[in-house]
Parts: sequence; structure tokens; C-alpha cells
Amino acid sequence: MMSFERLYKDGHEEVIFFSDPSCNLKAIVAIHNTTLGPALGGTRMWPYASEEEAINDVLRLSKGMTYKAAVSGLNLGGGKAVIIGDPEKDKSEALFRSYGRFLESLNGRYITAEDVNIGVQDIEHVFTETGNVCGVAKIHGGSGNPSPYTAKGVFRGIEAACMKVYGDRSPKGKTVALQGAGSVGRYLAKFLDEAGAKVVVCDINERNIQLLKEAVPAVEVVGVNDIYDVDCDIYAPCALGATVNDDTIDRLKCKIVAGAANNQLAEDRHGEILRQKGILYAPDYLINAGGLMNVSIEFEGWSDSKSSRMVDTIYDTTLKIFAISDEQDIPVNKAADVLAESRIESIRNINGKYLGNLGHRFPGRKTRN
Ligand code: NAD
Repeated sequence: MMSFERLYKDGHEEVIFFSDPSCNLKAIVAIHNTTLGPALGGTRMWPYASEEEAINDVLRLSKGMTYKAAVSGLNLGGGKAVIIGDPEKDKSEALFRSYGRFLESLNGRYITAEDVNIGVQDIEHVFTETGNVCGVAKIHGGSGNPSPYTAKGVFRGIEAACMKVYGDRSPKGKTVALQGAGSVGRYLAKFLDEAGAKVVVCDINERNIQLLKEAVPAVEVVGVNDIYDVDCDIYAPCALGATVNDDTIDRLKCKIVAGAANNQLAEDRHGEILRQKGILYAPDYLINAGGLMNVSIEFEGWSDSKSSRMVDTIYDTTLKIFAISDEQDIPVNKAADVLAESRIESIRNINGKYLGNLGHRFPGRKTRN
């Protein structure tokens, strides 16, 4: 269970348990690191089998957010929250408003957003009680759907990988095996198609395949288990994590792995195996950070051009990580961690700890009412 030894090990600053029996609220907020700014990360609702499972999830996810924000050049720390409950049965206005009041008590040290099983409607209730929330509707000054920006960032990552492998940024003439025709996959397919790449797609959801075909008629569809065997240049996982694993890695015929899914490598060692096989891996938590970049500017006033400009930086940062990987002779996934950690360390040295005052960059905003 929770112990200081455990928090010390991964460097978590703070873990807070919120309980409100009146609405059956059981929430855990983990603030991993606030050196760069307030901790930003979504709230996930899940019927965890045990509290231990919920704690493991929130600790792991919050640490991941620190790295993602740091490597992306954002002035944000890493945090995440989980609500223990069944999203089908346990959601209520009272639960989310109670949760929002607890968040307000953190005085901006943690800013939340949507995550698995938490939708815009739930976030609206949270927003009634605290301004320390993003991913709210455009009508309330929010940034709307993050998926187009996530897809654009993944496309920039693909361009960087193409530059490194082929000496030409454009994926024109390349074949991309796209796993997942969901929100991000659909936009990514459009970017690829417009750039002159051929897209081969799979999805377990026939409706999403149809939607993609309407948007990009030239796509070729393959079965969900055939995607790893596609004769392609780029494998783009945009469905679920851990698809680069012991069972799939020898089937991949690509030169590049670059997609939106989180935690694409089943284990860290798969990064090294990809390297040995001569397959370039574009670090997932950087190239899928477009959505995070997009919400991060809600506090200063969101605009499409501002968001796009930030997302475009993913191209240069990806190249920088490839260079670190070469210079230090380490796999790309490790090189991304090196860049994230060195940024946190250098800013820690000039800045000290984030003090819980939103300051000029994050002036906070009023609640919805
Ligand atoms: P989504 O749920 O809209 O789409 C995922 C798609 O994958 C769905 O169409 C689903 O049917 C399909 N799928 C599920 N299992 C599959 C399988 N075994 N084989 C093939 N297809 C399968 O999700 P999304 O928003 O498009 O996100 C895609 C991935 O990117 C997710 O892993 C998500 O965590 C990650 N991500 C998304 C964002 C974002 O802004 N949406 C940001 C960062 C990371």
C-alpha cells in the first residue's frame, strides 16, 4: 500500500485521498513533480478491483505526465487523478461537484481534465466548483476536441522519423500501417493521405472503419491481426498500448514505429530490440503530446494558431531525441527520458520548487457560475 518509501522511490511529491460518503466519492490525486509548474493531468474513472490497483495506476500515470510535459517544453508539472467507481452506475452531478470542491482546495497545484470514462459533461460539473480544470467546452473558453492536435503532433513525429531514416521529411510514397481508426487515427490518416502516403488501416469497430473510408477513400483495410504483417515503411499504433511486444516485434516489416497510443512498448527492453533491428521508434509520450499542448494554453487564452505552433515543435524535439539516442548510444525511449529529466533538473536549479501560486502564466480562472 502507500508508504513514504514508495513515494520517495519514484519522486512523488504528494498524494491526496478525497472522500465524500454522501455521493460515494472516492478519489485519489497524485502530484508527481511541480518543478516546472502546476501538475496537469486528467481524471480517470474506473471500477478498480482494489484500492491498491487504483494507487498503482495513479502513481504510474502521474509520473508519466511529468515526463510528457517536460519533454514537450511545457511549463507544467505532472499529476493525475482517479475516481474509484463504475462509470455506468456511479456518476452523479453531486459526485463531480464534490470532487471539484476538493480540487479547489488544492489552490491550483493540480489542474484536471478528461481522461478514460470522464467526458465533457462530467468536467462541466467539476468546472462549476473550480477553475482549475481544462478540456472544457469552447463555449466556456476551452479548447474543445484535442484529437486533431494529437494527430498533427503524431504526423510531425512521423516527419521527423522520415527525415532521420530517409533524409526527407515527407512521408510521400511511404506505406503506413495504421492501427485504430478512432478520433486520432482518422485525423492522422487524413494528414498522411494529403502528404501522399498510402494508409493501410485496421480497427475492431466497423463503424469507425466506415467513417475513415468516407474521410479518406484511398485507405486499404486489413484484419486486426494482420496489421503487424503489412509490408510497410511505418507502423502507427493508434489504438491501444503494449502492441510492440515479444509476439509482434519480429513480424514488423517497417523502418519506423510512430503513433498516438500511450506506452507502445510492452516493456522498456523492446526499445532496445527495435534499435537492434534497425527500426526507429518515435517516442510515444512526446509525439502524442499535441492534445496536452492544446489544453495547456487554455489558461492564457486558447487559439488554433497558438496551439498549432506549439504542436509543430514536436518535429524538432523528436529530432533532438534521436540525436541524444545516437550520441549516448541508448534507445530512443531512454533518450526521451534523458531530455525530460535534464530539463526538469536545469529549471529546478534556477527556479526552486513550484510554490502553489498560479503566478502570471496560470492566473487561474473563475468557475463556470
Ligand atoms: P479512440 O477510442 O477514439 O480510438 C481508438 C480506436 O482503436 C477505436 O476505433 C477502437 O475501435 C480501435 N481499437 C481498439 N482496439 C483495437 C485493436 N485491438 N485493433 C485495432 N483497433 C482497435 O481513441 P483516440 O482518442 O483515437 O486515441 C487513440 C490512442 O491514442 C489511445 O491509445 C489514446 O490513449 C492515445 N492518445 C489519444 C489522445 C487524444 O487526444 N485523443 C492523446 C494522447 C494519446
